[in-house]
This record gives sequence, structure tokens and C-alpha cells, in this order.
Amino acid sequence: MEDDPNIARLVDMYLRRDGYRVYQAADGATGLHRIKQYRPKLVILDIGLPGDVDGIQLCRELRATSDIPIIMLTARDSEIDRIVGLELGADDYVTKPFSPRELVARVRAVLRRIDVGGRTTLQTVLEVGEVEVDVARREVRLRGDLVSITAREFGLLQYFAENMGVVLSRRQLLDGVWGWDWVGDERTVDVHVFQLRRKLGDALTLTTVRGVGYRLD
Ligand code: CA
Repeated sequence: MEDDPNIARLVDMYLRRDGYRVYQAADGATGLHRIKQYRPKLVILDIGLPGDVDGIQLCRELRATSDIPIIMLTARDSEIDRIVGLELGADDYVTKPFSPRELVARVRAVLRRIDVGGRTTLQTVLEVGEVEVDVARREVRLRGDLVSITAREFGLLQYFAENMGVVLSRRQLLDGVWGWDWVGDERTVDVHVFQLRRKLGDALTLTTVRGVGYRLD
């Protein structure tokens, strides 16, 4: 559900390309109707929707009657929006401007978590060996101790954690974490990987795949 036609079109295109069937709605009332009609596996919900029902209300309404996975789109990097969204029961959120590829990766990750564990184990803390990636709090803990980490390092670690075992190229990482409109040197990825390794040490089995990129095991 998204009222900005450009964003809606882009998201639609990327999701379809990944094999998903997509139904769109530009306002909450239509969105609710579509959900009842098509019973989707997941809802992408813009927090700022026009009309009587905004994203927050809609999230609350959906949660009252169903446990359908919800990914919120927040207009700005606002702590409040994120926390409200997650407290209302959204499964994840993406901050605008976002990379469509990142959104698709989040969709995949949320659906996979549900496929694997069922609704009850749905979690906002990803476990990577002795490292805990707390998506809701944007915190990383190593053997229970909080690790000081930058927002970008966190984004990178979360992306790796959601794509465990997959070889990710520097370009994919830039698109997914820095955003599709980011311009700069691909080696910036290496610098951040270096920092993650420095901070998390042996606890992180982050392998360099020569000539390609990185893989988290
Ligand atoms: Ca909007």
C-alpha cells in the first residue's frame, strides 16, 4: 500500500521480477479490501497514506484480526515511526528513500523466517553464532555484550545475516545497504567489512570470496 505512484511502480516491478504476485492500493480502505479479496502472504504498508486510515491505524487494524506479515515503509528515519510500527506488530520496516532491492530482500527474509519457524518464532533478533543482531533496537551483542557499531555497519551486518550462506557482490551490498542511488567507490564495502571483522572477531565467519564479494556463514 503506497500512495506515491512512482514508488509503487518501482516496488511492483522489483517484486514481480523476483516472482511475487503484487496487488496495489493507494489508500487504506482500498488496501483492506484487497487484503480480504486476495489474502496476500505479506503486506507492504506505507506509514503515510491519504484518507481516513493511515498506515499506523491500518497496521493496528490488521493486527487485531490477523498475523499477516507486515513491512512498514517509513517516510523518514524517525525512531518514533519505527518503534510505533514494530510495537504495533509490523515485522520489519524500511526507511525512505530505500533501495527496491533492499525491500525485496526484506520481503524474502520475512517470508523465510515465517516458513522456517512458523509465526511463533518470528523474531526481530537475528542470531549469527554468538552474535545477536537486534533489528528492533538496532543493537549488536557479542556473547551478550553490546558492541559499538555505526548505522552503516549495522545495516551491512543485518543484510549479511538475512542472506546467510549467500555470496554477495560488492555491488549487491551497495544496492542493498547504501541504497540504489548511492554513488562512490565499491571499496567502501571493504572498509566496512574490515570494521565488522575488527569489532566481532572470530565470532563472525565472514568469508572473502575472491573476485566476487563476501559470504556470511
Ligand atoms: Ca505516502
